[in-house]
Amino acid sequence: MENQAHISEIYDLAVIGGGINGTGIAAEATSRGLSTYLCERDDLANHTSSASSKLIHGGLRYLEHGEWRLVREALSERETLMRKAPHLVRSQRFILPHRPHLRSAWLIRLGLFLYDHLGKRQRLAPSSHLRFDGQGPLQADITQGFEYSDCTVDDSRLVILNAMAAREQGAHIHPRTHCLSAHRSRGLWHLHLERTDGSRYSVRASALVNAAGPWAMEVITDRLGQDSRHSLRLVQGSHLIVPRLHEGQQAYILQHEDRRIVFAIPYQGDFTLIGTTDRDYRQDPADVHISDDEIDYLLGISNSYFKRQLQREDILHSFSGVRPLLADDQGPAANVTRDYHLQLDTDAQGHAPLLSVFGGKLTTYRMLAINTLESLRPWYTGLPESDSASTPLPGGDLSDPRALVEEMLDRYAWLPRCLATRWAWSYGSRAWRLLEGSHDLAGLGEHLGNGLYTREVEYLIEQEWAMTAEDILWRRSKLGLHSPALQANLHGYLRQRMDHRQLMPASK
Ligand SMILES: Cc1cc2nc3c(=O)[nH]c(=O)nc-3n(C[C@H](O)[C@H](O)[C@H](O)COP(=O)(O)OP(=O)(O)OC[C@H]3O[C@@H](n4cnc5c(N)ncnc54)[C@H](O)[C@@H]3O)c2cc1C
Repeated sequence: MENQAHISEIYDLAVIGGGINGTGIAAEATSRGLSTYLCERDDLANHTSSASSKLIHGGLRYLEHGEWRLVREALSERETLMRKAPHLVRSQRFILPHRPHLRSAWLIRLGLFLYDHLGKRQRLAPSSHLRFDGQGPLQADITQGFEYSDCTVDDSRLVILNAMAAREQGAHIHPRTHCLSAHRSRGLWHLHLERTDGSRYSVRASALVNAAGPWAMEVITDRLGQDSRHSLRLVQGSHLIVPRLHEGQQAYILQHEDRRIVFAIPYQGDFTLIGTTDRDYRQDPADVHISDDEIDYLLGISNSYFKRQLQREDILHSFSGVRPLLADDQGPAANVTRDYHLQLDTDAQGHAPLLSVFGGKLTTYRMLAINTLESLRPWYTGLPESDSASTPLPGGDLSDPRALVEEMLDRYAWLPRCLATRWAWSYGSRAWRLLEGSHDLAGLGEHLGNGLYTREVEYLIEQEWAMTAEDILWRRSKLGLHSPALQANLHGYLRQRMDHRQLMPASK
């Protein structure tokens, strides 16, 4: 029989979608004292928010499209997010090799001048001009270039940290819970929800946020039975991961003949991340895969800049995501705005607001969340101002993860440096929790491979909603890139753990 349940609490806010926008809104709402419920159909960050280029950036290219508002906001967010999560958001120098027939040097200089000055910048180094002597990784005919700063981020961990921040202030976060439908009744939203085991329940809330990313239109029309003034344009973007292309910490921004740009970014120590593409997408966003054309395109542009020539056999991994962009333009997919739009409506009496998120970037998630709360302010009397600019995300209450690594090694001399380093940059100050009570490596439990111990697996299950090997190896960490054997060991451990739990009598 179907397990029907009703949660009696009336939440101030319910959020559909556990990507960066949904979790960011939940974190912002709870920090302002709103009781908040969030449901995510799959794992947190399962979709677009784990398939990005992993940049917190102003978006140099958006200047060409005159997106001043977006670029200014995004540039300023870089240093704010570096402060909130210094272990996840790291400064990154980008080299732009100069190809005079693609963009003139004066145009690039102007763009970089604006990039340096449009948003607040105190810590990130300014741009500069470069000359190459043919010795570096780039092809010898490239003799000049430019250098500027942006940041990299662990995209899916940023989502998890926002979900944790929300939970720590009282939000109820429910991954693997599908919002089947929702309707307004007597000034409240009623949501009908289904967990992956088939059990169902419902919740009520004063306001509803639709942060379903590529499914935002499906939620409006099919789940809520509403009309929408705006619509989405779904645009696929894909990435390749190859063995590290070059020495050094610098990333590259490569201009293409089609006026698009492609990044080549040092990734997880041993790899280079190459992407992305822009192509209109009309199928199920959950089923998006890189196409042969995209592979050829990305390999082609990399090979036109780097001495090291890549073949298909060099590809270690690829991933694709679907951008849920506001449909504002009939032109090429690459030119559609990356800015966000918040659509608000209410019932006939002006109650039960529904706010739907169209578009957005990882970079601007915090400002999108603040603007969401501002849009909903009329329904929440006495809503305090935001303090999220100065509040660290969980584990972010530290200034330098490198110092944390040394401190960990001082206190736990038996800890391998590579493990301390990975934990400091993944968990920040929460890494101490992984070490609590351990006196030697054996205290971290069974070693499943590549520095993954069962202590960490248990932490991820208990604290970060992980359930499957994929949740752990691809979203909570990126260890899946390193060894297929680890995957099998982790599957085995999780299966054993589940069997053991099923055999245990239920605790009272
Ligand atoms: C290739 C690519 C590269 C990018 N690179 C960058 C970058 O470098 N920097 C940057 O700032 N931005 C980048 N972006 C943009 C950024 O990744 C997205 O804007 C952002 O992740 C969108 O987040 P979201 O929360 O709106 O959507 P999602 O992450 O897709 O989250 C929406 C969630 O809603 C859930 N959902 C849907 N329907 C329901 C339902 N009925 N019930 C419950 N849950 C539901 C889905 O399962 C999904 O997890 C990139 C995007 C792509 C595709």
